Amino acid sequence: MKDLIYGDTHWDERNRRFHFEKVKNDLETDVLIIGGGMSGTLTAYVLSKSTERKITVIDGKDIASGSSRANTGLLQVSSDTMLSAFMETIGEENARRFYRMCQEALMDLHSIREIFPECSLRERQSLYMATEKDHEEKLRKEYEALKGQGMRLRYLSREEARKEYDIDCYSALLIDGDADVDPVKFIETLTRENAEKGVQYYEDTEVDLSSVKEQEIFTKDGHKIHFQEVIFATGYAYVYPFLKDKIAIGRTYALVTEKISGSPWKDEVMIWETRDPYLYLRTSQEGRIVAGGLDEEVSHVEKEEKKLKEKEAELKASCEKLLFHKLPLEVEHFYNALFGSVKDGLPLIGKEPGRENRYYLLGYEGNGTCYSMAGAKIIKDLLLGRENPYAEIVRLDR
Ligand SMILES: Cc1cc2nc3c(=O)[nH]c(=O)nc-3n(C[C@H](O)[C@H](O)[C@H](O)COP(=O)(O)OP(=O)(O)OC[C@H]3O[C@@H](n4cnc5c(N)ncnc54)[C@H](O)[C@@H]3O)c2cc1C
Repeated sequence: MKDLIYGDTHWDERNRRFHFEKVKNDLETDVLIIGGGMSGTLTAYVLSKSTERKITVIDGKDIASGSSRANTGLLQVSSDTMLSAFMETIGEENARRFYRMCQEALMDLHSIREIFPECSLRERQSLYMATEKDHEEKLRKEYEALKGQGMRLRYLSREEARKEYDIDCYSALLIDGDADVDPVKFIETLTRENAEKGVQYYEDTEVDLSSVKEQEIFTKDGHKIHFQEVIFATGYAYVYPFLKDKIAIGRTYALVTEKISGSPWKDEVMIWETRDPYLYLRTSQEGRIVAGGLDEEVSHVEKEEKKLKEKEAELKASCEKLLFHKLPLEVEHFYNALFGSVKDGLPLIGKEPGRENRYYLLGYEGNGTCYSMAGAKIIKDLLLGRENPYAEIVRLDR
């Protein structure tokens, strides 16, 4: 399987809390989910609450060891494409419906926290900053669009942003209702719940994705898995030929600092900017700063030490310049990872065209967790033959 991450992510430090067997015989299941990252986990969670069918999750490595381990854990309604920009490309009705999907996904994620407080999700505000002069107007337009969407937010002038948050930007939106999460802890919490509910899990079992037939697929070791329905939740590791023209794989960098005592900035809001590619920062629950950015159009991870040192220094300096001239960052973890995006900015979720029992939820786009949550519900509805108001917008053959 392709390398998705290189370097030391903060989550690597923790000991795993469970282990599942590999597939050693032929298997039979009703619903087969390939991939135990955020997408596969949430799908198993949502499905197991709605159907008695036998569900099996298989991962080629360990649960939560794909891109979900690189996830920096910002959970936001707003995606990399502004609502006001979507209104121009896909029309106001679809754009508003799509953002409603994300609002609902955030609410669903908050509800999971209410059931499983140990899943580590916390409510946060986001501060979205115009860091270029000509983005001020764009941000003002976005403010109106988000207000019209019923979101709770404030528009901050340059002076207000400086006074309240000690940051230098042209203007900013302070948005309520977002969240942050330790993605690995979240997946582990739901995996334990799913397994207790009867979902069968297997790890260390790569599936030969090209071997799929009407109702069977083979592991790389040659074991046959017979299914009624299959859900591909394989992330960016494999590019499905029928989707290849719609997507782009890039590379991005992230750092996690040493623990800092006290709160490094007001209300520990999650910070990101309008510049493209953008920088983003948040605090973690153990008092570290997590930051990312420097996206590049390259589809392999960087392994060369000299280049990595330069990138680490560049990311650290950009973050310090953005906000923390008074707060030098001591980097403890630094990594780079592949990152999948979709050319029209919308996620790809749904049934394979012309196939009745093959579904895809691949976690593309920066708001991946939000899409994994919404996608799990879309797949559940499609699979159970129910209407879903968002399925049409994100369908694979749009
Ligand atoms: C650096 C970085 C930062 C990010 N930050 C954020 C953020 O702040 N907020 C946010 O919402 N999103 C973020 N994302 C995006 C988020 O990480 C992804 O949307 C999410 O991880 C996708 O989850 P997934 O389950 O679809 O894929 P993955 O986590 O990659 O899971 C796929 C699983 O499928 C398994 N698999 C693949 N092929 C096979 C096979 N043939 N057989 C068996 N198993 C297979 C893999 O082993 C893997 O475990 C970030 C991504 C990166 C790279």
